[in-house]
Amino acid sequence: MNYSFSGCDTVELAKEYGTPLYVMSEDIIMDKINEINNSFLKNYDNVEAYYASKAFLTKEMARIIKREGLGLDVVSGGELYTAKAVDFPVNKIMFHGNNKTVKEIKMALNYEVGHFVCDSIGEIQLIDELAKDLDTRANILIRVTPGVDSDTHKYISTGNVDSKFGVPLPLLKQAVETSTKLENIVLKGFHFHVGSQLFDNTSHLLATEIVLNIIKEMKEELGFITEELDLGGGFGIYYKKGDDVKDLSYFIEPMMKLIEKFTSDNNLLRPKISIEPGRWIVGEAGITLYTIGSIKEIPGVRTYVGVDGGMTDNPRPALYQAEYEALVANKIDKECTETVTIAGKCCESGDILIWDLKVPSLESGDILAIKSTGAYNYSMASNYNRVERPAVIMLKEGTPRLVVKRESYEDMLINEL
Ligand SMILES: *Cc1c(COP(=O)(O)O)cnc(C)c1O
Repeated sequence: MNYSFSGCDTVELAKEYGTPLYVMSEDIIMDKINEINNSFLKNYDNVEAYYASKAFLTKEMARIIKREGLGLDVVSGGELYTAKAVDFPVNKIMFHGNNKTVKEIKMALNYEVGHFVCDSIGEIQLIDELAKDLDTRANILIRVTPGVDSDTHKYISTGNVDSKFGVPLPLLKQAVETSTKLENIVLKGFHFHVGSQLFDNTSHLLATEIVLNIIKEMKEELGFITEELDLGGGFGIYYKKGDDVKDLSYFIEPMMKLIEKFTSDNNLLRPKISIEPGRWIVGEAGITLYTIGSIKEIPGVRTYVGVDGGMTDNPRPALYQAEYEALVANKIDKECTETVTIAGKCCESGDILIWDLKVPSLESGDILAIKSTGAYNYSMASNYNRVERPAVIMLKEGTPRLVVKRESYEDMLINEL
């Protein structure tokens, strides 16, 4: 029996499109977007949801987000260009990044993106200058480093004091003062993002409280009225046993309650609230299919099973020890009797996709499906060892469609002289 994902036989997909193959389910993406609608957008006034596109961005993904009416977070000229390529409404684009280049800022100003989220006073001044040259004004939010630790890998924790992201609390007043004085800057409010892949709402709530106090202080001390507050993303998804996944409302409800109560108690305007989930929308909507090649048993040590991809299509295990579940797509009815280690094909000993996976008896040619690879896999893929990037297909109601062609060797040489 074969493993069926989102109504499609994955072994057939591997045959038709080849491996490695990124398989995305539009149905699952839609389930997530519906949950955002039901537990956030429909429940509150004056709110907005942005998809953090760095998790997975292709033209087709941008089209889906556009069609569903969500906003889009981008962090680079390339992401912005992709959005523009599908005529994404520019007023619904939020431009992030801790070191936006002059080229990127000019591009975003020319496109008239809705917001810049600013990471430093220097950047605010730079945007002001460039906006002046172009005779335009830029709406900005200031990204606050709330100084809260989050319970996640330190490479995906972003809200702690010692972070490259955001304006540290001691400099915030100066950042607000500077912004309000600059003629080509319109300061709308604040933003925070505490980290990624979180199962506990504590750090979100702590950061919300800190930023609410900032909003109060800035009104009292500078007369600044905060019109917008962005709560970031970071909501955790299921990768492996033990991942204690919560509903979106587990994060949203208490934050919204806190905001409504604090602003009403302190006689403050309740700002427009936005969220920016990335991983949460696409992570569980993706799987990767591989063909098993070499099977090497080191007697008494371990069995390495080689697949036709690896850190080039999924660098997360090598980058931050990310763990995944997987199954043998053409043998899901067979008993798992063996324990093997799934090795990528790259020339790095760290290129191991899964340690100690329970599998049925394997043969070369079997199809392996690794689950929850929809976020930060395709978007982090590389050509290390000159491995060509896989194709991406999108499944909808049992029908697959190709959305990104498999890279060819010629493609890899296209910029070479
Ligand atoms: C990465 C990022 C997100 C999305 O994070 P997820 O964990 O994928 O939800 C949201 N906002 C900002 C500013 C980010 O950098």
